Amino acid sequence: MSLPPRVLVPAAIGATPPALGGRVHEFAGATMGTTWSVRLVAAIALRREPVRQAIQAALDEVVAQMSTWDARSDLCRFNAAAPGTWHVLPEPFHAVLACARDVAERSDGAFDPTAGALVDAWGFGPSQRRGVPDAATLASARAVAGWRRIDVDPARRALVQPGGLALDFSAIAKGFGVDRVAQALDALGLVDHLVEVGGELRGSGVKPDGQPWWVELEQPDAGSGERTLLALHGLSVATSGDYRRWFEHDGTRYSHTIDPRDGLPIRHGLAAVTVIHADCMRADAWSTALNVLGPDAGLALADRLGLAARLLVRAGDALVERRSAAFAALLR
Ligand code: ADP
Ligand code: MG
Repeated sequence: MSLPPRVLVPAAIGATPPALGGRVHEFAGATMGTTWSVRLVAAIALRREPVRQAIQAALDEVVAQMSTWDARSDLCRFNAAAPGTWHVLPEPFHAVLACARDVAERSDGAFDPTAGALVDAWGFGPSQRRGVPDAATLASARAVAGWRRIDVDPARRALVQPGGLALDFSAIAKGFGVDRVAQALDALGLVDHLVEVGGELRGSGVKPDGQPWWVELEQPDAGSGERTLLALHGLSVATSGDYRRWFEHDGTRYSHTIDPRDGLPIRHGLAAVTVIHADCMRADAWSTALNVLGPDAGLALADRLGLAARLLVRAGDALVERRSAAFAALLR
């Protein structure tokens, strides 16, 4: 027997009147090694091509600045730069870096945008040499990591390469891309939209029927367990999960999320962490941060910071849900 879904409704719904005479247009494409999709409300006669181009351009800009996979990106060039060199970086790059540092500090290093060498050592970076690294490789990756090594000159918008520092924005850039697409659509007057990049979502405004954009929270085992529907009305949602990218070696499953505090893939039985936040960039970063912290410390920090978070903990074959107070407050 399947249960009826629970619903999560933010208080502001009903404030915005529906756009009259509009219909839902759908767009889709590829970015950041994954897919994107957009649904928006506009007149039937909408000229689609300029909209599609604006969406793709917003995402291409994020990739050109922040990709770990494209050696020509600003981030890759910074990572490869000689020790002691300064690099003037674009404003969006600094916006992501500032958010990443904030989440790093408040999660006490569980989230770390300088984990690139560690991620690569475990084979989840550009080298793709997947497998358990030897002790020397791990030690040298740990030696160069550490968000406290980041040194920005705000006046020049410049960042120094202290030597071997490998930035990795993969746990935050998808969410940022979602925010940038939403901004691009707002600038075109397309304020009623649902934007998705690789499963991270942001919704604004309403559909032609006056309903908000309803989305179902991601689950590791689709179909099993209680479904949860969320009205994404001026909100974003991001999920970090152990079922997304991993490899298996000698019967152990290794996650692509690394605990920078010991340099090892996380291994505490959290199946998924979902965070709801106004900004998708923050939802994305915090879902990864809480995932690293684990069920107890993650939930405690979410409550301390007032974050709306849902943690799904593996208990044998079952999943046990734990909610922060702010998440529980959204449930109707
Ligand atoms: P998930 O959906 O599982 O959170 P994300 O795509 O958001 O996945 O982020 C995972 C990616 O972030 C990894 O592939 C790696 O590049 C990077 N990463 C891994 N561990 C950390 C960490 N502790 N802090 C910041 N970034 C990390
Ligand atoms: Mg993330």
